[in-house]
Amino acid sequence: MKLTVLGSNGWFPANGQLTASYILEYKGTLIVIDAGTGIANFNLHTDILEKYDTVHVILSHYHFDHSVGIVYFNRWMTDKHLCFYFPAGKYYQSGAIGFENAIFAKGYNSGSLKGLAKRVSVSEYDENGFTINRIKIKTLALKHSNPSFALNFDDKFLYCTDTPTDEKVLRENSGCALIAHECWSKTDISGGRHTDFESLSAVLNKIGYAGKILLIHKNPDLSANDYKEMIQNCQDIAVAMDNDVIKI
Ligand SMILES: [Zn+2]
Ligand SMILES: [Zn+2]
Repeated sequence: MKLTVLGSNGWFPANGQLTASYILEYKGTLIVIDAGTGIANFNLHTDILEKYDTVHVILSHYHFDHSVGIVYFNRWMTDKHLCFYFPAGKYYQSGAIGFENAIFAKGYNSGSLKGLAKRVSVSEYDENGFTINRIKIKTLALKHSNPSFALNFDDKFLYCTDTPTDEKVLRENSGCALIAHECWSKTDISGGRHTDFESLSAVLNKIGYAGKILLIHKNPDLSANDYKEMIQNCQDIAVAMDNDVIKI
C-alpha cells in the first residue's frame, strides 16, 4: 500500500500546500481520496497515472476543499475510466446529482462530469461501505456540518478528516497500521468542529493505539514550523506535506 500526498491543507491552499487529495496505490488499483486543489499536483505524478487505465475517486464529503479539483481531471483523463464514489444523497439535500448540477452549472462551467474522461461512472455510498476490486472499504459517518465519512481500507489504513476527535471511530479502527487524521490546531479553536492535537493525542493514548499517525487537513493559518513544534517528542506522528510518499 502506497500513499502519495497531493494536497494536505484544509480550507484553502497556502504555504505551498494545496487542499485535500491523496493517491492510494494498493492491490494493482489506483484510488484518489478526495479531490481538492491537490488534484493539480497530478502534473508531478503522471508516472503513476501511466500504470493504470482506471482511476477510482472517493469523496469523503462534498465541501469544496475536498471536491473542487474534480474540474481539473480532464487534463489527464482523456484515455482513462474515471469511477466516482460520492456520499449518498440521503445525507444531504441531494447527492451526486446535486453536486454535479452545482459544480457544472450551465453558463458557469463549460465542462461536464461525463466529459472529464473517456468513460465516467458514478456511484453513491452509504454507511454500509463498498468494495473496489478486492479492497474492502468501510465508511463511517463523522460529525461535520454535513457528514464527512471516515474511510477504512482493508483495516490497514484509515482516512479521517473534517471531524472533531471521535473516540468511538478511532477505537473501532485502532487495528490500522496508519491513520491519516485531520489536525486543525494545537488546542481547540473551532468550537469542537475540527480536531485539535491535544484531544487527538489524549484519545490515542487512552485507546493504546500502536500504529502510525499522519496529520492532514492542515490549517492554512499555521506554518510548517507550527506543526513541527506541535509534534515534537511524539514518535510515530508525522505531518503530511504535499508530494510526500508514504509506504503503509
Ligand atoms: Zn475540509
Ligand atoms: Zn468539510
